Amino acid sequence: MSRYLSSRLAALDAYTPGEQPRDMQYIKLNTNESPFPPSPLVLQKVSEAEVSRLNLYPDPEATALRGKLAGLYGVKPENVFVSNGSDDILNFAFMAFCDKEHGAAFADITYGFYPVYGDLYGIDCKVIPLKEDFTLDPMDYHGLGRMVVIANPNAPTGLSISEADIRGILESNPDNVVLIDEAYVDFGGRSVCPLINEYDNLLVVQTYSKSRSMAGARLGFAFGSPELIADLNLIKYSTNPYNINRLTLIAGEAAIDSNDYFVDNSKKIIEAREYAAAELRRLGFAVTDSKANFLFAKSDLIGGEELYLELKKRGILVRHFSKERIKDFNRITVGTMEQMEKFIAAVAEILETRNQ
Ligand SMILES: *Cc1c(COP(=O)(O)O)cnc(C)c1O
Repeated sequence: MSRYLSSRLAALDAYTPGEQPRDMQYIKLNTNESPFPPSPLVLQKVSEAEVSRLNLYPDPEATALRGKLAGLYGVKPENVFVSNGSDDILNFAFMAFCDKEHGAAFADITYGFYPVYGDLYGIDCKVIPLKEDFTLDPMDYHGLGRMVVIANPNAPTGLSISEADIRGILESNPDNVVLIDEAYVDFGGRSVCPLINEYDNLLVVQTYSKSRSMAGARLGFAFGSPELIADLNLIKYSTNPYNINRLTLIAGEAAIDSNDYFVDNSKKIIEAREYAAAELRRLGFAVTDSKANFLFAKSDLIGGEELYLELKKRGILVRHFSKERIKDFNRITVGTMEQMEKFIAAVAEILETRNQ
C-alpha cells in the first residue's frame, strides 16, 4: 500500500474471491458459477454487429433491459435497478442507506462481502450469530433501527427463511431498508419481489451470475419502491452512469427472452444437488438443507481443510473457509450431474485411502 492511501482505508480487509487457478483444468466447484454456458440466444445476440457498436456509449437507463425484467417479474420499470453485478448494488445500498448514525446488521455466517462494505464506509455493523444449526432467528432482526441485510437462501449454508419471517422484519424496521439478497433464489427458493408493492423499505437484489450462467457478464438487478430505486440511481449517476456495458445489456435482454433455458438448467442443478447431498450423507457427511446451487457439508471422518486439499490434488476445487465457526465445512458448488458423480467418487476414494 502506498503512503498516499487515505488513512480511512489503511486497515480495510478486502473481500477474497474464490481461487481461479490456471495451473491445470479443474472441475470448478468453488465459486458457485453455473456449469452451463449462457443461452444460445445470448450467444447469437452478442454478435459482431453489436461488437461493432462499441464506439457508442450504452443506454445509461438500460430501458430495454429494465422493461424486460419488469415484465418477467410483474413489476413496473421504475421498480427496477440494474448494475454491474449484484455486488455493485450491495455496494450502492451500503453507500446510500447507511452512515455514521445508521448502521447495518447481518448474520455472522453469511456472504463475506457485507462486512467489507461496512468497513469501507465506516459503518457500525451489528453481526448477529446464527443459531447452532445455522438457522436464523427472525426475532433477532426485529426493531434494530439499522439496515438489515439477509441473503435468502443464505451463503454458504444454503438455508432459507420464510416470507412471513421477512414480513415481520420489514414491519418492525419501518425506518430502515431491509435488503434481501436473492442471489440463489432460483434454485428452489421463493422471491419476495411481489412484496415491494406493500413495503417501501424492501430492496430485493438478484443476479445473472448464478442461475442465468452469466457471471462473466457482470449483471445484477434489484426491485424496490420507486423512491428506493431513485436513491440507487443517485449513486449511479454520481459515480458511473454507464454502469452496464453494451454487450452485457444485449446479453441480459436475450437471457430474459430465452427464460426457459435457465429454468431448465436450474432444474438440472437441483437434481444434481439432491443426488450429491444424498451421496454425501451416505458417506457420513452432515449436509445442510441447501436451497442454493451449492452444498455445505462436513464430516467427522476428515477435516474441512484436509478434504479441500485432497480434492484439489485430484483436480476438484471446492471452497473452504478458515473462519473458526465453519472451518470443518466445505462449500461445494453444484455442477453438472457428471461433475457431481466425479466429485462423489473422489470423496469416497479419499475417505477409503485414509482408512487403510
Ligand atoms: C455471488 C453472490 C453475489 C454477487 O453476485 P454478482 O452479481 O456476481 O456480483 C451477491 N450475493 C451473494 C449472496 C452471492 O453469493
